[in-house]
Amino acid sequence: MGFERFGIVNYTKETKVVDFVKHLDEGKVMGTQCTKCKAKYFPPRADCPACLSSSFEWIEMTGKGKLITFINVNYGPIGFEDKAPYTLGIVDFGESLQALAPLDKDIKKENVSIGMNLEIKPILLEGGGLSYEFRTGK
Ligand SMILES: [Zn+2]
Repeated sequence: MGFERFGIVNYTKETKVVDFVKHLDEGKVMGTQCTKCKAKYFPPRADCPACLSSSFEWIEMTGKGKLITFINVNYGPIGFEDKAPYTLGIVDFGESLQALAPLDKDIKKENVSIGMNLEIKPILLEGGGLSYEFRTGK
C-alpha cells in the first residue's frame, strides 16, 4: 500500500513517510518525533529541519487540541469542488504540533469557534482513499 492512497487529491507518490497511510488505515493519525533533538512534526517528517537528523519515530496524534483559526470554504479548489461547502481549521496540539484539516461536516458552522476542543481522526474516502479530519470527539 503506497502513499497514492492518501487524500482527495494526491500530490506525491514517493515519500519516506509512507507508513503514515498504513497507520491511517489502522485508525491512527501519526506525527513524527526526531529521536535526536526530540522535535515533533505534523505532517510527519523523516528529516528534521532543526538538527538535520534523519532518525525519527512515529507518535500518535491523540488527545484534544484547540482550534486556533478556521475558514469556511464555499468554492473548493480543483479536486475538492464537490466537497464544498466545508470548514478548514488549524488545531494546536501543544509542543509546537499544529495540524491543518477539514472539520467533520457534522459540526454545524454556527457551532465552530476559536478555542474549541477538537481531535484528529482518520477518515475513509469514497473510493477507498484515506485522509483525516477534526472531530469534537463526543
Ligand atoms: Zn532533530
